[in-house]
This record gives sequence, structure tokens and C-alpha cells, in this order.
Amino acid sequence: MGNVIVVGGGAAGMMAAYSAGMCGHKVTLLEKNEKLGKKIYITGKGRCNFTNACDIEDFFKNVVSNPKFLYSALYTFSPDSMIDFIESHGVKTKVERGNRAFPESDHASDITKALDNGLKEFGVKVQLNTEVKGLSIEGSTVKGVVLKSGKELAADHVVVCTGGLSYYTTGSTGDGIEWAKAAGLKISDLRPALVPLNTKEAYIPEMQGLSLKNVNLTIFDEKKKLYDSFGEMLFTHFGVSGPLVLSASSIIGKTLQNKGKLSAFIDLKPALSAQDLDARILRDFNDNMNKHLSTVLRGLLPSSMVPVFIDILGFDDGRQINSITKEERQSIVSLLKAFPFTIIGLRDFKEAIVTQGGVSVKDIDPSTMKCKNIEGLSFAGEVLDLDAFTGGFNLQIAWSTGYLAGISI
Ligand SMILES: Cc1cc2nc3c(=O)[nH]c(=O)nc-3n(C[C@H](O)[C@H](O)[C@H](O)COP(=O)(O)OP(=O)(O)OC[C@H]3O[C@@H](n4cnc5c(N)ncnc54)[C@H](O)[C@@H]3O)c2cc1C
Repeated sequence: MGNVIVVGGGAAGMMAAYSAGMCGHKVTLLEKNEKLGKKIYITGKGRCNFTNACDIEDFFKNVVSNPKFLYSALYTFSPDSMIDFIESHGVKTKVERGNRAFPESDHASDITKALDNGLKEFGVKVQLNTEVKGLSIEGSTVKGVVLKSGKELAADHVVVCTGGLSYYTTGSTGDGIEWAKAAGLKISDLRPALVPLNTKEAYIPEMQGLSLKNVNLTIFDEKKKLYDSFGEMLFTHFGVSGPLVLSASSIIGKTLQNKGKLSAFIDLKPALSAQDLDARILRDFNDNMNKHLSTVLRGLLPSSMVPVFIDILGFDDGRQINSITKEERQSIVSLLKAFPFTIIGLRDFKEAIVTQGGVSVKDIDPSTMKCKNIEGLSFAGEVLDLDAFTGGFNLQIAWSTGYLAGISI
């Protein structure tokens, strides 16, 4: 049995240390923060949506980057395995809408507690406040790690679980990606994902705080449709956010960075065809001939959208319904079906739920998480070029890859 060092006490690192310990290795878990799992505490708005209890085949559909790489990891340690792990380590769980699993207490700290119990079970040595500076590699074999203090710790095997670049205040500063690069591994382009978007038009921040439910968002690169989905979104002081926008960011990020801008449209009435909507507006107009357009629009739109809407239409304030022509009515329908704005950038890593890109999976054996070219080195979790949509999928990627890395040593 070997001497194993796991670097990074986040989700992937705790699980890798647990499973390596379970296999009888002497394991040391190094974490630069004062506690383990700092990011876990803020996941799921403090409730930790720790996995998604869906079928594994459905799981893959929610992975944005490199789903096929995850076959072994997910079949070895599935969402059900994770639920069993948490329950068998003293924490009750529950499954909510969309198969999202949480601790029954709604306290993320319970998930960390369960993992902590697992680490104790197999005598994993946890060293907090211990920052690793780099890997110690001789030829093509890892010999251990070098700490920031200058001290070297020897190991037969090192598992790097240092996370990505998002929410760096939790400790995820991309260190493992730098070490991989220095060791000659390929790094896929890094960008924030599950992140809000900056927009161009001044009218978007005018509606900040407004949340839209049951709308359809489409995003185009010129004529090519990149994204089309239904749900909730939000206007902010810089642009747009909310579930629809976060998911969109993971899909459009690369093209957006290449092209600099993309056009987006909100269908505010997705349940009605343009024809049905026109008929409904015509009825509303006939019933309110002597009222102001803004009064009638308030029946169709959130009130903070109405002035913006009238401005985009180019209508004078105070237009009465009886003065609206058929063409003008049709332009109202068109705007309700395709409210336009321009996306000009992703927000920063510090606002991103995950990092897209990282250590290229081409350099990693998917059945062991071992590095193909360097002996004694494995990677797990967000440090790898793996990311998924919201719903518990990203944490499960960390648990599954961490577990597989640990048992494969
Ligand atoms: C606000 C927010 C909410 C989220 N909510 C959810 C959710 O509900 N469900 C879900 O599935 N996913 C969620 N995620 C994503 C999920 O948290 C991450 O994908 C997951 O934590 C990645 O785990 P990891 O172990 O790979 O990396 P991390 O959690 O980033 O852990 C890396 C660890 O390594 C340590 N480390 C880094 N460098 C060094 C070094 N040089 N020396 C020693 N230690 C080091 C860090 O301090 C850190 O503790 C959320 C993310 C954020 C930011």
C-alpha cells in the first residue's frame, strides 16, 4: 500500500482521499484553507444540491464538456452511490423538483460533515492551512509535492484536486492547472461558465431587478441559432442573469469570446403564436379604444418593461389605442415575440459557478483518472476540462472522478 497525497480539500479531494483510504493507502489531504470544503458551504445557496438523482444516461445530457470521458467515473460511483454514501455517513437526504438532491436539513455543512466522517473512518490525515506550491517530478514520475513553506513531502502517488478558477475566494485559484501546464499537459481554453452575461443596450439596466418567468430565450451568432430554451431570467445593472442565462453562458461562451457579440431575443409570450397574440391584442385594443397604449401594455407586460417597450417601438409617450395602426399593432406583436438585446461578454470568474476548460481530458485515462504521461499522478474534479449545467451535476462530477481516482491508485 502506498503513501498518497491528495491536494485540495474540496469535493473531489475529500472523496479521493476517502476512497484511497478505503483501499488501505496511507493518505494525507492537503488544503490551503483553514477548513475543508469551503466552496461546498456556498453551494445550492447554502443548501448544497449535492447530486442529481436522475438516470445516468440523463446525467450525460447535462454535461456540457466531455460527457463521454465520464462514463467510467459515473458508472463506478453514480448519483445513487453518492446518496448512499451521505446517508451511510449519518446525514439524511431528500430529492426535490428536477431530481435535485439536498441534505434533509438544508444545511450544506451536513454534506461536509458526512465526508469528514468518511475521512476519519479510514484515518486520512488532514493538513489544513497547507498550501502546495508545486509538484515534485523526476523524469516522468511524481515524487511528491513542494509546499509554499519550501518543505517537500514525498509520496508514491499524488492526486490533484485543486478545482478551477471560479469563486477564487473559496481557494480555487487554478493552481493545479498551472502545475499541469508546467508538467507539459495540455490545457483546454479557460472561461467562466454558468455565469451572468454583459449586454450592450442601455435599456437593459433600466429594468434591473425585473425577473421574467416562463419566457423563451434564443441566442444567435448571426443566423446560426446557438441556444433556445424556456424558463426564468433576470435583468441586472450590467446585463442579464437567472437560470436560463446561466445555462446559456455554458453553451455560447466559446463563440461569444471569439465573436465579441451575439444577438439575443426574448419571447415574452411563448405560449401564443404571433397570430394568436395579435388576435388577443386586437381584442384588448377594441375593449380599450380611448385608453393610453401604456395602460393596455401593462396588462401584457411587467410595468417596468412598458416604458422601455414603448421607447423601442419609437412611439410617442401618451399614444392612445385608437391612434395605433394595424402595422404598429403588428410591430408590438413582433416585439413581444422577439424582444432584442446584444450580449457582449461573460461576467468574470469570480461570479461564475464553474470553470469551463482546464486540464485536457486527452491527457487523462478515463478509467483511472491517472495522467497518461506522468507516473504517480492523477487529477479529479473541476481542475479537469469538465463542466455541466446546474442541478447537482457539477458536484457529482467531483465525487465520481474523485472516487475513481482514489480507488485506482
Ligand atoms: C456559488 C456556487 C454554487 C454552487 N452550487 C452548486 C450546487 O448546488 N451543486 C453542484 O453540483 N455544484 C455547485 N457548484 C459547483 C461546485 O461547487 C464545484 O463544481 C465543485 O465544488 C468542484 O469541486 P472540486 O473539488 O473540483 O474543486 P473546489 O471545490 O474548487 O476545491 C478545490 C480545493 O482545493 C484547494 N486548493 C487549491 N489550490 C491549492 C493549493 N495550492 N494547495 C492546497 N489546496 C489548494 C482549495 O482551497 C479548495 O478547497 C457551485 C459553485 C459555486 C461557486
